[in-house]
Amino acid sequence: MKRVQDTLPPYVKVENGELWLTEDDRENLKISYRIKDVIFSEPSEFQHVMILDSYDFGRMLVLDGVVQTTSIDGHIYNEMISHIPLQLHPAAKKVLIIGGGDCGAAREAAKYPHIEEIHMVEIDEKVVQACKAHLQEVSGNLSDPRVKFIYDDGVAFVREHKNEYDVIIIDSSDPVGPAEALFSRDFYANVRRALKDDGLMVCQSQSPIFHLDILRRTYNNIGELFPHVKVYTATVPTYPGGLWSFTIGSTKPLSFPEQAAIPADTKYVNEGILKQCFELPQFLKTALEKR
Ligand code: SAM
Repeated sequence: MKRVQDTLPPYVKVENGELWLTEDDRENLKISYRIKDVIFSEPSEFQHVMILDSYDFGRMLVLDGVVQTTSIDGHIYNEMISHIPLQLHPAAKKVLIIGGGDCGAAREAAKYPHIEEIHMVEIDEKVVQACKAHLQEVSGNLSDPRVKFIYDDGVAFVREHKNEYDVIIIDSSDPVGPAEALFSRDFYANVRRALKDDGLMVCQSQSPIFHLDILRRTYNNIGELFPHVKVYTATVPTYPGGLWSFTIGSTKPLSFPEQAAIPADTKYVNEGILKQCFELPQFLKTALEKR
């Protein structure tokens, strides 16, 4: 009979009768989570897709051994990547999400009644199906008719669309594998062309602690393409380093409306968060001043 550990990828192991996921972040940093149960585990055309039930973070989406989002802290990231740009563009009608397979960002965007269409371009249909079926704390089993799922490479998709979207949210995995090109200057140039004249974009730009080089490159690339660029942060416990960054590029100066209209059921974003999220620690201000 096959034992459970024989069918699992090597980063999920049974040790002393306990199941552990070890995320291999880098040579000198590995993060382990004790796992109650393997809910879903299948390779897709692009990556290995798992939904695990962990002791401290509840259910989590794991792609190629990297934790993407969890029941406990997924709302922090998903609210920050969606409500901040949607508050800065309070009249958005057409929104594009690139990546975002856990459906959390689309679920947050769908809370705005004035948004007419949300196009979600995710390369891997298996991630969406797994999260809708087994990670409803994050996906909410999203079935809003304004959300159109398009299974395609975000890089190719933006090349074909001009002057179409009010807000583009780039909710990508780390810059390895299929997501690598989502961090390139060419891609951001096409994102700019896919936006309407008064549109804005946001992307997750990695850890200011561990990936400052990627954050600086992203900030500089976006700053060369858009007249207005700004970084904001939030703390997401399951992302290495905790502190996480998001970068906005906009054709118009960035300011929140006098009267913020934040959906009633957010768990993280509120008016205070809008006021402080662009306040950066000194090391980060200094790093971003160097072009
Ligand atoms: N919140 C997460 C984080 O920062 O770790 C990421 C959210 S989401 C799960 C990232 C998604 O981007 C994945 O489902 C992945 O399949 C998708 N993705 C990666 N490369 C892509 C591409 N080139 N086009 C569209 N989607 C892509």
